[in-house]
Amino acid sequence: MVAPSDIFWLVTSAYNWCCSSSVDQAQNSTVASTSAATIAAQTCQQLQQSLGAPLVQTSSSGPDYSLGANGAWSTFNTEVNFQPTCIVFASNAEDVQTAMKTIYENEADYAVQAGGHSGMTGWNTIQDGVLISFMNMNTSSYDPDRDTITMEPGVRWGEVITAMEPLGVAPVGGRISEVGTGLLLGGGLSFLSAAEGYASDNYVSLDVVLVDGTLVTATADNEYADLFKALKGGANRFGIYPNSSSEALLGAIAHFVHDTNDTNAVMVTVIMTPWPSMETSISVLLVYNGTEASFNESFAEFLSIPYTSSSPSPLSFFELSNAVHFPAGMGTLFSASSLAGVPANSAVSVDDYLELYRQYNNFNSMFATSPDVGFTLLDFSPVLQSQIRAGYEKGGNPINPPLGTPGYVIVLFQVTYREGVTKTAEDVEKGREVWMENAPRTPGLPLFLSEADAKQQVFASYGEYEFLKQVYAKYDPTSFNIRHTEGPSGLEVPLATVCEPFSIFNYSLHLPLCF
Ligand SMILES: Cc1cc2nc3c(=O)[nH]c(=O)nc-3n(C[C@H](O)[C@H](O)[C@H](O)COP(=O)(O)OP(=O)(O)OC[C@H]3O[C@@H](n4cnc5c(N)ncnc54)[C@H](O)[C@@H]3O)c2cc1C
Repeated sequence: MVAPSDIFWLVTSAYNWCCSSSVDQAQNSTVASTSAATIAAQTCQQLQQSLGAPLVQTSSSGPDYSLGANGAWSTFNTEVNFQPTCIVFASNAEDVQTAMKTIYENEADYAVQAGGHSGMTGWNTIQDGVLISFMNMNTSSYDPDRDTITMEPGVRWGEVITAMEPLGVAPVGGRISEVGTGLLLGGGLSFLSAAEGYASDNYVSLDVVLVDGTLVTATADNEYADLFKALKGGANRFGIYPNSSSEALLGAIAHFVHDTNDTNAVMVTVIMTPWPSMETSISVLLVYNGTEASFNESFAEFLSIPYTSSSPSPLSFFELSNAVHFPAGMGTLFSASSLAGVPANSAVSVDDYLELYRQYNNFNSMFATSPDVGFTLLDFSPVLQSQIRAGYEKGGNPINPPLGTPGYVIVLFQVTYREGVTKTAEDVEKGREVWMENAPRTPGLPLFLSEADAKQQVFASYGEYEFLKQVYAKYDPTSFNIRHTEGPSGLEVPLATVCEPFSIFNYSLHLPLCF
């Protein structure tokens, strides 16, 4: 199996981050939203002229508009809640450049959508703004001479794996086939990560459209090496465990992430509670790229815990990547934690793991009668020490926990609403916030962007947070992206250093004067 060493990938800016200004939102909300809508309408008109109506569609003008507006996995990000003023169905880098240049010049709000699997409400779609959809840029190809894969941003990991399978190569990409290339923005956890690092550690070259529409190609050793780094953020057994095994399993997870040095061993644990039965089940995916004897050795602790069903079988990488599906069509929100591994043969307890699970059960009990919730899950994905090392060896990434950090586990707490529910429920949201505030988290470990909540300060948890801030400030000096598209917070430049207070009609508004 060959890992890709070359991913050409389009992004619209150095990073995609949250709108923050100190404007008094309550006072200005009506004015702000009217003007955003007007600016968006004007921008869309210009884009229809420059790119043509088939590429730039509005709800009244385009046959594909609804397809684009409903491309998100979470119902909360579909047309029922967000109606982009227009959708740009980019077909190549030039289209993206034209779109960004026009958006930039008009100061319009915008969003970008690749595979649509963001768990953050409003990050991959927009109201009163322009949505750039990569739906039609979905090719991937392999160059055997350079042993590299070239991908367009709208391709999904399942499509890349399907295209590469006959060639005997595989990308270090997503574990679920429907997910898109936005995964790379969060670092990207692959079945190959223990050996190869985060998916994004395997970039060779990136085509990047900056906020003003300039196209640059970033590599590890050209003048955009800082941008390049900043943009990095076999098989055989499935088992279902009864809830009574949870304590032993949580111990096995803690020990596995701390002690495993075997880059062929992959583990993912999913604890799931469906409404209304509330019958929690635990699925553990144990994958070993090698012999059965090595499998048994590597997963001995898991295998010693009683399970109710198991389906061991040899799988190809292709089959593995298509083994699990999470269908779209339900509103979903994520929250993240990270917990340090615990050595198996030591007196160190796994109390944090048990407490985290206790709080998960508390949430479930508290909302057991909720008419809105469909299911919850708690998912554990390892970041082994070998993965951290691979990232450093491949030039480092902003996530970088300190070298020498023992392996740890990324925790995802997911609340999925019932089909047909289009808005979050206030009480459930409050409960999720309580979980985020109180769930144990090991200080000093990064949170995983792709499985976090919009309010969690993910960048501030990164090992190279200061580096990331500097690169962002360099490539988007007016913070255009932060002001016009939703995304993670933490890269804002303190207003005092770049902006002057701005006075209109005797109201002193702290508007960023950095246009
Ligand atoms: C069912 C499911 C399974 C998952 N499995 C995994 C997994 O195995 N490993 C893992 O690491 N993560 C996984 N994730 C998390 C996943 O990586 C993130 O949700 C990721 O953001 C999805 O990327 P996307 O292209 O599908 O989504 P999108 O929603 O299209 O994109 C995600 C974010 O990135 C932005 N974006 C996307 N492309 C670009 C671009 N070219 N330029 C600028 N901004 C862009 C979007 O605006 C959005 O904010 C999973 C998520 C789900 C829902």
